[in-house]
Amino acid sequence: MTLKRTLLGLLFSIFFIGVISAQEVESILITNANIFDGKSDALIKNQSVLIEGNIIKQIGASNKVPKGAMVIDAKGATLSPGFMDIHAHLALNTGPADMFYAPADYHSALSLYQAEKTLMMGFTTIRDVGGSVFGVKRAIDEGYFKGPRIYASGPPISMTAGHGDYRSPLTLPRQLGGSSHSELEVTGVTTFADGVPEVLSAARMHMRSGAAFIKMFVGGAVSGMYDPLDIVEYSYEEVKAAADEADRWNTYLAVHTYTDKATQIAIKAGAKTLEHCNLITEETVKMAVENDCYISAQTGVYLAEAPSSFTSAQKARQQQAADGLDNLLSLCKKHNAKVAFGSDLLMDMEVKKTLCEEFTNRTKWFTNAEILKQATSINGGILALSGPRNPYPGKIGVIEEGALADILLIDGNPLENIEILTNPEKNLLLIMKDGKVYKNIINK
Ligand SMILES: [Zn+2]
Repeated sequence: MTLKRTLLGLLFSIFFIGVISAQEVESILITNANIFDGKSDALIKNQSVLIEGNIIKQIGASNKVPKGAMVIDAKGATLSPGFMDIHAHLALNTGPADMFYAPADYHSALSLYQAEKTLMMGFTTIRDVGGSVFGVKRAIDEGYFKGPRIYASGPPISMTAGHGDYRSPLTLPRQLGGSSHSELEVTGVTTFADGVPEVLSAARMHMRSGAAFIKMFVGGAVSGMYDPLDIVEYSYEEVKAAADEADRWNTYLAVHTYTDKATQIAIKAGAKTLEHCNLITEETVKMAVENDCYISAQTGVYLAEAPSSFTSAQKARQQQAADGLDNLLSLCKKHNAKVAFGSDLLMDMEVKKTLCEEFTNRTKWFTNAEILKQATSINGGILALSGPRNPYPGKIGVIEEGALADILLIDGNPLENIEILTNPEKNLLLIMKDGKVYKNIINK
């Protein structure tokens, strides 16, 4: 350690300067913290957490300050793992028309804007389940922009007339002589694939781009143009082809699905995360549990007012999906299903500001502790499914020795009052991702 670094560390430890870069000090000791470790129902009181580089090195009652460490006195704040949005669409920020006509760099610019907003709401990781974000992810990872860790699927795989198909009904599929790529594929909204060979090509193309997993639409959608909620998109063979390809890359398949029929096909084919699922019945919830699948549910996107761009059919489907939530989440609770925490907020920058309301929306079905576990350790379990395709090897979603240092300091105890998380600007006192401090107002 250089003298300069030591002095810098001491300076920080004495004056607790606001926003700093952890790269400027070799270690950070957070003292007087009450820890929510991502897994327990109660806080572990009066702890110190030592962060070295990007790793949680030590947790304990000792306040001994290692030489050169910067000290942050948490003053009894709750220390939590960074939150994760397991169903995000960072690149989908505008209405459908812009998906066709706006320049690609406009979408990237908005994605970078949203990335910083997401991080500052306490979400240190997102799993991006559809959109073109590989370049944005790289720029954030390289430190040029502020944003969360991004586990990306790239464009979801859609059949012709499936959820990703917003083309004119006159557009011919490739195999019937259509053009090789539609605008939606160029902007990364979706990848069209019909039949096993095209599904395999699509999956392989996304793995080549650096996907952490594969995403496929296997059933009708709320916001689709041609696909009512009841339909099954893709045959068993096509879904199995995608799941097997993901398995060959030692990762997994995530599927968009609402109904029993589509969900059961996906589970049998080997999908591991089931996105939405609003209309499934007890039989399918049990099947998901038996097959160790995650139910990746969202609430806010259904409970919100329908976007003005929606047709009456789309509005009716949103209502149908909203009506299914109570049954789904009650069944998940009854059967102890692994429920993930995600938002699916998309196509509207204003709506994306409501991300933190996902915490309070869920209190109708889950305890505060259950919700906080969903947003941390349960989501972390999904991210670990990427295996060797995990772009950020290491453990996240928990506060334990050896885990990656994604840490929040929260003013108050969210296990008692989860509402405090809906005001991150005021109540998130510190935001750390990968050992680097992005916000620190603990001493203001
Ligand atoms: Zn989605």
